[in-house]
Order: sequence, then C-alpha cells, then structure tokens
Amino acid sequence: MREAVIVTVRGRVQGVGFRPFVYRLSKQLHLAGTVQNNMDGVRIVWEGKAAAIHEGVRRLRSDKPRLSRVDALSAVPRKTSGLTDFRIVASDRGGKSTLVIPVDSAVCDDCLREMRDPTNFRYRYPFINCTQCGPRYTIIEALPYDRPYTSMKDFAMCRRCAAEYRDPFNRRYHAQPIACDACGPHLSFLDMDGAVRGMREEALADAVRLLASGGIVAVKGIGGFHLACDAANAASVAALRKRKGRPAKPLAVMVRDVRTARQFVFVSTEEEKVLRSPEAPIVLLRKKADCSRYLAETVAPGIRTVGVMLPYTPLHHLLFDDGPYDCLVMTSANPSGLPILSEDDHALSYLRGIADSILTHNRRILHAIDDSVVRINDAAPFFLRRARGYVPDPIATQAPVDGIVALGSQMKNTFAIGRGNQIFVGPHLGDLSAEESRAHYRRTLAHLMTWTGIRLRAVAVDAHPLYSTRAIADELGTRQMKVQHHHAHLVSCMADNNITAPCYGLILDGTGYGSDGKTWGFELLYGNASGFRRLAHLRYTPLPGSDRAVLEPWRNAAAMLITLLGDRGFSLAGRLFSDHRSALPIIAKMINRGVNCPQAGTCGRLFDAVSAILGLCEVSTYDGEAAIRLSECCEPNVAAEPYPFMITGDALKEIDMTPALAAIAADRLNGRPVSKISTRFHATVVEACCSLVRRSAARYPEFGRRVMLSGGSFNNIHLAKQIFQKLTDEGFHVYTHHRLPCGDGGLSFGQLTVAAQKLAVTPIAGRL
Ligand code: ZN
Ligand code: ZN
Ligand code: FE
Repeated sequence: MREAVIVTVRGRVQGVGFRPFVYRLSKQLHLAGTVQNNMDGVRIVWEGKAAAIHEGVRRLRSDKPRLSRVDALSAVPRKTSGLTDFRIVASDRGGKSTLVIPVDSAVCDDCLREMRDPTNFRYRYPFINCTQCGPRYTIIEALPYDRPYTSMKDFAMCRRCAAEYRDPFNRRYHAQPIACDACGPHLSFLDMDGAVRGMREEALADAVRLLASGGIVAVKGIGGFHLACDAANAASVAALRKRKGRPAKPLAVMVRDVRTARQFVFVSTEEEKVLRSPEAPIVLLRKKADCSRYLAETVAPGIRTVGVMLPYTPLHHLLFDDGPYDCLVMTSANPSGLPILSEDDHALSYLRGIADSILTHNRRILHAIDDSVVRINDAAPFFLRRARGYVPDPIATQAPVDGIVALGSQMKNTFAIGRGNQIFVGPHLGDLSAEESRAHYRRTLAHLMTWTGIRLRAVAVDAHPLYSTRAIADELGTRQMKVQHHHAHLVSCMADNNITAPCYGLILDGTGYGSDGKTWGFELLYGNASGFRRLAHLRYTPLPGSDRAVLEPWRNAAAMLITLLGDRGFSLAGRLFSDHRSALPIIAKMINRGVNCPQAGTCGRLFDAVSAILGLCEVSTYDGEAAIRLSECCEPNVAAEPYPFMITGDALKEIDMTPALAAIAADRLNGRPVSKISTRFHATVVEACCSLVRRSAARYPEFGRRVMLSGGSFNNIHLAKQIFQKLTDEGFHVYTHHRLPCGDGGLSFGQLTVAAQKLAVTPIAGRL
C-alpha cells in the first residue's frame, strides 16, 4: 500500500546539508517525492511504503547532519500522486533575501580521518572541510551562501574537487569552501618583516619547530589570529605576557585532546560534549592541584579555572600531530581594546615585538570573530562571550521584532537585529572606546543588516549620553528609543526565558546610566518590556576621578570608607593603603567639594572596593580583575555568617553596607584570612539581595515570585549559585541566562525586546 505525507522540519535546517541528507535518505528507503527549502524551514513530500515513510521520519531526527538542529517536525498525510523519483527542487523564497547565515564549525571527524589518511588526496591538507564543517560566517561576502560570494572565490576548483561538489551522494556536495592542495588555500610562514620563510609543509614544520623551542607564533585561524606558545613553558608564557603588556589576565589554552585535558583539569561529561561540539568554544574548567606539567602557573595566575578549547581547524590538529607540546596558549591576537586581527598586514604591524613569526594562509577572513567562552552550570552552557560558532544563529522570539536594531553597551558590546520573529545577536565586539573598534562595529553591523534584508524601523540605544552607540544611532538616521541599562538587563533575561509578564529583576552589574543620572548597578527592579519600577538599590558613594577609580580600585575603596565612615574611614584608608597615604587628603577634598566625583551604587564597584581593602587588587590590569580575584578566594560551598548591613528607605529601599565595610576593614587589619573575609562578604551580598526580594514580596504580594538574575556580576559563580539557591529555597522562581551572556553581551537582546514592545510592531505579511 503506497502512502504520501508532507513533512515540515523547522530549526537549523538550511545551509547545513539537510536537503542532500534527505535526498540520500529517500533513495535508501525507496521513497519518491521532493525536498525544498522554504521560508519555514525544509518541506519534504514523500510517497512510498508506509513503513519506509515511518522510518524516514524517524531518521530525520536520529541521523540528521551534524550542524543541523531540529526544533519542530510535523508529518501530515496527503493523497498519493504517483510520483516515481526523488528530486531536490529549487528553494521557494518568494524573492526575499535568504534567511540563513551559516555559522563557522570545527572540523568534523570524517574530514580529520581523511586528513590523516596517506592514501587520501587531501592527506595533511590544512583546509580540508565538508558540508558538515569548516568556515562559514567568516568567509561570506554576500548572501545567498554560495562560493562566488565567499572569499573562496579566489580559488578555482580543480576537477576532483568540482566532481565532489556536484555529486549529491558526496559529503562535499555543495560544500562552498571545498578545496584541496592542488586548488585551494595554502600556508605561509612569515618573519616579522613580512618575508615568506616557507610555504605549505615547510611553513607548518617551521611553526611547529618554533613553538616547540619556546617561540611565540601568530597563527591565523577561522576568525582571526591567535598568539600561540607552549603553555607548559613558563619562560614563553612570561615572554608573551611581557611583550603584550598583560601581566595577569588569564590566557586561554588549546589542548591536544580531551584525554590530555583530563591530566590537568576536571572535565565532566557535559563539558566534554561542549568542548567537542561543532561550536568548539573555550570552556572554563577547574584546574587540578598539580597541573604544572601542562600549564605554567602564569597562564591563569591565582585563578582556579582555565579556559580550554580543543583544536578546531585542520591546521590546529596538524600543529598538535606534529609537535611535542600538549597544550598551547592560544590567546586572541588583538591590540589592547581593539578588534581581533584578521589580516596579514595588520598582524605584521601590530604584532611586531610580540610574535616571533606568523603562520598564515591566503583564505581571506572577511569577518573577524573571537572565540566564544562558556562555562557549564548545572549541565547547561552559560555564555561569557558569544561569538564564533554561535553567531549569527538567530534566537526565536514570541513577539515580532521586525526592523529593529539595538546597539548594545559601551563595553563587551554586541548589537542585535530583529527580523520577523527572530533576533540576530551579533558577535562580541568588546570595548567601543577606540575609533578602530567603532569602525569594525559599523562594518559588522552594516553587513548583518544587509544580510538579514531588514527595513530599518527603529534603533534602540542605551540611555547613557556618552556611549559611542549614541553617535552610531544618529548615523542610522531613524527613530531612536532610549532604553535604561538595567531595564535592558532585566528584559534580556526575561526574553532569554520566554517570559513576558512583569517580574522582579535583581540586576548586579558594573556600571550603567541610571534614570536619575547616577551610576546604577545594584538594583532590584520590577517590570517587563513595557516599563519598570526601581524598588531598591545600593547606597551611592562617590567615584573620585570617575574612570580612574575604576582602574584603581583602592581609590574607590578609600572613597567608600571616607564617605561612609568619616574620620574613622579616613584613618582606616590610611592604614589599609599606606602606599597611597599622601593621596588620601586630595581624595577627601574631591569628595567634600564634589569635584569629578560621580555618584555610584554598583555591585561591581563594591566588589572592587572590598578586593582593594583585602589587598587582592589595588590597581586593575584587566577588566573585572578586582572582582575576579575576590571571588577566586571565596571558599565554595561554605556557609558563612553575613556581615551586618542596613536596609533603609520606604518605597525605594537603600542597602547600606557601612557596617559591613567597617567590619571587613577591621578583619583585614586584624589579620583574619582573606578567604574567610571574602566568603563572609559574598554571604553578605547574597543576604542583602535576598532580603530585598523577600521584603518586597511581603509588601507587594501581587508582584508574584518570579526573579530574573542579570548583570555582569552574575559571572561570579559563587554569587550566582548562592543567590539562586537561597531565593529558590525561599519559594521564588529564579531565572538566569542560558542563550546569551548575563553581562553587557546580552544587553542588545534586551534593548531590542523593549523597543519592540514600545513599537508594538505588527507582523509584515509573508515574512518569517
Ligand atoms: Zn568535514
Ligand atoms: Zn581541489
Ligand atoms: Fe551592564
């Protein structure tokens, strides 16, 4: 008995080899019909034996291509129409721009096997790839994703590659970056004057030799250059730090394989899965007690974790296949505060005096992108940086967001673009202070706006008058909508969890421009995309010298002590910061006169101050260092008594940490162990947050019991875990981020959602 069905598959099913997969599956199962991409996903018509159709539907999920993701699948019976053959038919796009922008993917096992097979014609070819792996986003010039619109247009396919490209039964059917040594890109080894010292195998051998002997090599990857050196070689790591002017910032490493990683870090099943995934991000893993054979102490000094990734390009694998080292430092090659380097001439000029040589290739990177960074929390990935492998995979929304662009924050920037019911969050672009960074931002935004084919209707922008995004918004020349920073954080977390009804937002953050012109960042809000109400915040204290107090946490600590404790605070500051004693009267004067002393109540600055008081970080050498050092010496899973604090105010509550700071300073001066003080301080912040929520819930029972946790301070795993646990124990429903970072990397997503609500955009007929 012949039957017929129409199967619709939604999810990531376009540009990932799904149609050829369906074609091969249909042939195997003797099913006739068609497969077609349409605006909804992939549409399959099948005719054949009922059992074969049943089996086909099952295997659409179980055998799906590596890079695909099936979100929904429906099979509806229809009348048979006597089909006899199976065909791939042209896409039904109604003339609209192609939706799919494929993401870069780590090399697959099939390609690796071929690369290591001496009988294969791509044996040891560093750019081997197929429909299931290789570069995508980074090589696309224009859509649709097709070879002439990628940087692979520089290479004419040889006969062998072309034959595979055209064969629907081949793994490389329509693999746009298909290449081999005869026709594709090749390696070059450059000295720092730009002279080519070797090509192909010779270039690789030179690089391996230099790495093995302790040198620093800039290696061109998928999204840009890395600076690489042997992670076990303390002298090399020290040289890299010295030359880069990076005394303490933790460096990521690339390790030969998971088995080797287990020698020096703990790897859970879930962490292994993410390490091995096609997205191949950097995963933060806990170091083992003795890891010095693999990792010089200076790779992540004073920190319990280290960022680890696996080799994700064929070239990376060759570097490990040929080299004696097991673990390489692989840190983004970017000049401080500037985007990652992706072109040879920039690498040559910026890395002079830093790298010893450059291992590059002639496949152009059109869109630089950093490695993604995740941590696994309770079996789910938690993004610290969302970039390569994930961008620009869109996130589905409940409400239409068409034509809205959100510009994000000043630091840890990402932008977001709304199209139909999807939000495309752009790559991590970092700090926008430098002109080069803003130029990179403009280019990246313009490309993604063109690719998504949106008609711009509105732009959402942070309310801070001095953010660089304000000027960019003016350039876009459309309706602007200002979104308060912490409101955007709250809504980002809500949208991340598909929640729309008003709820609490506990927002712990570094810096954000408040509605009263003060610097906010320790907030209890209540609201949703339509608006918010501020219920509580940390008492404001002055930041003498503004940015300088951020870079030098001891200034901020001194200001807090002086402001909150008066003369007693002044003398405490003198004892705690004896090196800076002569500067204290000036700071006191600045505070008294209110000169260049913006008022701030932020969690980030509070952590900075305590870190400085404990002598952990008086001057910061990288963003977030003081807070990270403080959290690193917190004893995990230890219950500690909170320090005393006060909550004042009525409708708008204020947390006053004066007694806590006095006690912390006293404990420090009395020589109590820093780890004990840090643990108690964490418990204090946890208790302060929970009591705010608790009191508010008692006062406003109608507000419900849902709490969003957002803001960059939730990158602090102790803080995040303890607040989550305590509020959950008290009967609240607590939500965190899981598809976007909790910090400013997730801000644009919230801004866009707020703007969409304000616009109440109506869906445009016929568009997704
Ligand atoms: Zn492959
Ligand atoms: Zn070829
Ligand atoms: Fe923020």
